[in-house]
Amino acid sequence: MIGAMQDWPLLVWRLIDHAARYHGSREIVTLRVEGDEHRTNWREVRDRSKRTAQALTRLGVQTGDRVATLAWNTHRHVECWYGISGMGAVAHTINPRLFAEQISWIANHAEDQVLFFDLTFLKTVEAIAPKLATVRHFIAMTDRAHMPESSLPLLCYEELLAAEDGNYTWADLDERAPAGLCYTSGTTGNPKGVLYSHRSNLLHTFGGGVADVFGIGSASCILPVVQMYHANAWGLPYIAAAAGAKLVLTGPNMDPPTTLRMMLQEGVTLSAAVPTVWLGILADLEKTGGNLGKLERVVIGGSAAPRSMIDTLQRVHGVSVAHLWGMTEMSPVGTVGGLTAAAQALPYEQQLDVLCKQGRPIFGVEMKIIDDDGNDLPNDGVAYGHLMVRGPWVIERYFRGDGGDVVDGEGWFDTGDIATLDADGYMQITDRSKDVIKSGGEWISSIELENAAVGHPLIVEAAVIGVPHPRWDERPLLVVIKQPGSTLQKAEVLAFLSDKVAKWWLPDDVVFVEELPHTATGKLLKTALRDQYKHHLQPAGS
Ligand code: AMP
Repeated sequence: MIGAMQDWPLLVWRLIDHAARYHGSREIVTLRVEGDEHRTNWREVRDRSKRTAQALTRLGVQTGDRVATLAWNTHRHVECWYGISGMGAVAHTINPRLFAEQISWIANHAEDQVLFFDLTFLKTVEAIAPKLATVRHFIAMTDRAHMPESSLPLLCYEELLAAEDGNYTWADLDERAPAGLCYTSGTTGNPKGVLYSHRSNLLHTFGGGVADVFGIGSASCILPVVQMYHANAWGLPYIAAAAGAKLVLTGPNMDPPTTLRMMLQEGVTLSAAVPTVWLGILADLEKTGGNLGKLERVVIGGSAAPRSMIDTLQRVHGVSVAHLWGMTEMSPVGTVGGLTAAAQALPYEQQLDVLCKQGRPIFGVEMKIIDDDGNDLPNDGVAYGHLMVRGPWVIERYFRGDGGDVVDGEGWFDTGDIATLDADGYMQITDRSKDVIKSGGEWISSIELENAAVGHPLIVEAAVIGVPHPRWDERPLLVVIKQPGSTLQKAEVLAFLSDKVAKWWLPDDVVFVEELPHTATGKLLKTALRDQYKHHLQPAGS
C-alpha cells in the first residue's frame, strides 16, 4: 500500500510561482552594476524569469544543458537562476573571483552553452572567450543603453527579455533532475562540480525555513552579502521566495559603508556573510559610531566567527548572532548555532561559549565523528575526529564522477573538517583536516588559536599554520595583521595567549604582515602561507 496523498514533484520553479502568487508585491531591491538603485518585486521577477526561460529556448538551450552565470547578487541574477532551472537547464553559478584560467577550465568542464555575465566581468569574458569550447552565446546582463563595445558578438539581456511575452509553462521535470551546478573552491587539485537537483534544493529550502535556522518570515528583509555563486547564497534566494520575504541585493557593492547604508535605508532584519565581511562592518561602525538599524539577526558562516565578533554584535549592537556551518557539497547548510532553552538560562559568558560552537544539525542532516580508522567517536564535546554527514541535500558524487566514490556504503560523506559533537547535538569545528597542526603526535587546532589571537584588541586578522619543525614534526606559526599604527610586539601577543590555550599550543613565532591571502570564497589560503613559511622554523636543507 502507498499513501493516498498527491505526488507533487519538488521543483524549484514552484518557489518563484508561490512568491509571485502570494507575495507578488514584496520587493527586491538591487544596487545594479550600472550604478542605479532598482526596485522590483516577486511578481515581476517571476515574469522576467519566464521570459529568460523563453529566450533560452529560442537560443536552442535544451533540457539538461548547463547555462553559466558570472554575476553578482542582483534581481537579474535571481531571474536567471529561476529561468534557467525552470526551463529544465542547469544554472551554473561561476565564482568570478577565481583566476581567468580557472573560470575557463570550469566552464569547459561543465560544457556551458550560454554565459550570462555582469558588465564588471566583460574583460574576463573577452579574455577567456577563445578558450571556451562550448559556449555559444554571451549575454551581457544590461540594457541596450549600457551595452559595451566588445570584440565578442554579445547579446543584450534586456533586449532578449523584451522580445518574449512571459507566457510560458515551466518545464515538467523529474524532481531528481539537475537544477544547479557549483564548483568547489578546492585549494588543491582541480575544482569539482556539485550538481544540485530540484528535489535537493527544495528540501534544503524546507530545512532552511525552520525558524531556528535563519528566522525568515514574510516580514523579513534579507540582505545576503554572501553571493549566489558561493554555495547558492546559503539558499537565501530560495528561502526568501518560499517565505515571501523582501530581498536587498547590493550587486558589486560589498563595501561596509554601502552595505550599512542599504541596511538602514531598507530596514534589513537579517543579513548573512563570512566573518571577514562582519569584521569590516564592525570596524566601520566603530569609526563612524553608526548602528545596524532594524537588523535583528546575523548569520555568520564560511569560517569560524571569533568570540569577540559574536560578543560585539550581540552586546554592543543588540542583534542575535548564529553561526552557520555548511559547505558547497551540502547545498550548503549543515548546522546552525544558537541557544537551547537550557542554554538561554546560562550566564552570558557561558552563552558565548555555546555560540562559538558551529551549532546543531538542522532537520535533514545527520552527523557523526570518526577516528582515522573509521571508528565512531563519543559525542562528549571533547573527542574530536573526522566529521561525516549524510542527508537528502548532501552530495552523493561529484559532477562527472570526479574524485570517485565520495560517500561510504551508508551514505556518509567526509566533510574534511575535524570537529567535536556534544550530547546536546552541538558541533564545533576544531580544524580542516588539512590545516590541523600535528605537533609531537598531538593535534593543535589552528582555528582555536586564531580565535584566541583575534580576541586581542590590536589584532585585525590572524592565521595559524603548522610549519615543519626538526623535533616536533610541526609547530604553530601565528601570522597576524595588527591595527595600523600600533606597536604590538610578539611577546605581548604570546603573553595574551598564554592563559587562553595550553602552553604547548603557544605559537613558536609571531609574524606581522600587511595582508593575508584569501581564497575566492574569502577563506584564509593556508596552502599559500604554508608554502611561504615552510622554512621559518627549519632552515632549508636542515
Ligand atoms: P565552502 O564549500 O566553500 O562553503 O567551504 C566549506 C568549508 O568551510 C567547511 O567544510 C568548513 O571547513 C568551512 N566552514 C563553513 N562554515 C563554517 C563555520 N561556521 N565555522 C567554521 N568553518 C566553516
